[in-house]
Amino acid sequence: MEKYKKLEIIFYLSFPFTALWLFSLLALAFMGHTDNLFWQYALIFSATFAVIFGLQFLVLYKEIMSRLTEANALQKALQSQEYAAKMLVRRDLELSRANEKLRELDAVKSNFISVAAHQLRTPLTSIKWTINMILNGDLGPLTTEQRGFLMKGYESNERMIILVNDMLTSDRAESDKLQYQFAPIQIFDLMDNVLYEMTIQANKKNITIELEGRDANLPRVTIDTEKIRAVLQNLFENAIKYTPAGGKILVKVSADKTSLKVTIQDTGIGIPEEQQKNVFNRFFRAPNAVKTQTDGSGLGLFITKSIIEKHGGKIWFESAQNKGATFYFTVPITH
Ligand code: ADP
Repeated sequence: MEKYKKLEIIFYLSFPFTALWLFSLLALAFMGHTDNLFWQYALIFSATFAVIFGLQFLVLYKEIMSRLTEANALQKALQSQEYAAKMLVRRDLELSRANEKLRELDAVKSNFISVAAHQLRTPLTSIKWTINMILNGDLGPLTTEQRGFLMKGYESNERMIILVNDMLTSDRAESDKLQYQFAPIQIFDLMDNVLYEMTIQANKKNITIELEGRDANLPRVTIDTEKIRAVLQNLFENAIKYTPAGGKILVKVSADKTSLKVTIQDTGIGIPEEQQKNVFNRFFRAPNAVKTQTDGSGLGLFITKSIIEKHGGKIWFESAQNKGATFYFTVPITH
């Protein structure tokens, strides 16, 4: 830019001088003094100056033209930018509409799951009580074979009830409709209760459960007891389900200044590395889990994660195939 400025100044300064020399030249011709030495010099200077002026004019003209071309290109770029901005606004609008549509579809899907699950729950509950009555001998004595078949029917029905409940809960968790009731509690009041139930299940597979870090002085946590019970049950049930007979589950409870940490470590089939990113996704089941344990919905960890996050805690795990899995979760301490 500095260069252009200098050229312009030279150009404008040269103009009056050139005019003066040209005027003198004309005067000379008019007065017929072309043989005078002074005027001959004047003529040479004028011609030189005119050439310089012409050259300067050319340079300046080139610069002006190139500046004009630049301005044109800039204008075109601005126009295309304006066009791109308009397109972006339009795309944004289209995306908002698509998003709105997806939300509507999601609401329809949630509604469908909720209605279907509710409708399924009623007949399943009545099947449960009917089988229960027969098993209790209310309709007369049963042979061992009849009892065996009925027990199988009862267990399958129970699994259906759990699945339907999980579907309802996961849907409520996803749409943020799960109701929470928080209250301060000493974690072992809950843990002992869950451990008692889980030890019965673990014993059936000859799996031992060990607890480390029992400390009555651990700080209290403010939690929804029933929800954290469901979290513990899910993590223990998984550990039992995916650990071969004779295995071991180690439970640790510890606390730092801000949170209480629960660790549940098993010696089971583990989670293959390439599947680990999906573990907390709804309906996800790793192929090695499906192979070992056909039962499962892939909803438990999704619900578990949502509950822990609602408590302001974190959940994560470490695992490798055939090397067991260790799940950790934290919940904030009550101050
Ligand atoms: P489900 O157990 O009903 O399949 P979850 O949501 O509880 O569903 O778990 C999702 C998946 O995570 C399981 O199918 C399994 O692949 C993997 N998983 C969870 N816990 C364990 C564990 N302790 N050991 C090995 N795999 C596990």
